[in-house]
Amino acid sequence: MDTASQLNDESQAFLDALPELAEGETFVFACNESVPCFNRCCAELTLPLTPYDVLRLRRHMNNIDSEVFLQTYAEVRTFPETGFPLPLLKMQEGPGAPCPFVTPGGCSLYEDRPGACRTYPLGRGTKMGENGTVVERFFIVREDHCRGFDEGKRRTAREWLADQGLEAYNASNDRYMRLMAMVKASGKPISSRMATMCVLAFYQLDKFRDFLTKMQVPDKVELSDERRAALMEQDEALLDFAFDWVELVLFGQCPTLRRRK
Ligand code: SF4
Ligand code: SF4
Repeated sequence: MDTASQLNDESQAFLDALPELAEGETFVFACNESVPCFNRCCAELTLPLTPYDVLRLRRHMNNIDSEVFLQTYAEVRTFPETGFPLPLLKMQEGPGAPCPFVTPGGCSLYEDRPGACRTYPLGRGTKMGENGTVVERFFIVREDHCRGFDEGKRRTAREWLADQGLEAYNASNDRYMRLMAMVKASGKPISSRMATMCVLAFYQLDKFRDFLTKMQVPDKVELSDERRAALMEQDEALLDFAFDWVELVLFGQCPTLRRRK
């Protein structure tokens, strides 16, 4: 079994074994420099990076070249059931295998830290509901070393998500999940060629923008002037387009992007 399938199976088994936090139920938690375990959770992690995580991390690093980013900070694996790329954040080599972004004062890119770091100590399980909606469940991840539960503010899962600025992360990740669910339901993983294209479209937005221009892709689809301008200027709009475009290429149709006749 490769790391990616282990990751899928283990993540699901891990979530299933955790206590669920029901809608409206609250938990007490606080994490700051004064906790005795400060930074303990920022090491030895198997941390998958979503396309939106990479968008935010690269932006924090002054839009570092995406190839350099992936080579330096990620190890790209593959989701076995769908063939989609799965970059894992590379921990540092050496004692304790710390995250490359942890410092004695905490996370060096806190405002742009990945969604999984924001969500912790909650786990968010998602599945497709009716009419393309996403059904969420929340779990408490209570690890022995984590003293954050000893005291703090009482919040529901939704209040925690809002406090941690997760709205944009979850919206983008859920869009990606819908695409992956469609491929999974088709029973046919994407080809390795398409997987390479997905690395470009989802994780290398700088180079994907150049590709779109070179291949004149915006001329081949129906785009409002507004959307066309936005995808050339804003990475969020470009990533949104990337999901639609990959869906169009894979399935021949996409409700939010049509080929020009
Ligand atoms: S990205 Fe930041 S919050 Fe996440 S593990 Fe690394 S140091 Fe910790
Ligand atoms: S282990 Fe828990 S309380 Fe300690 S730094 Fe990490 S999240 Fe905060």
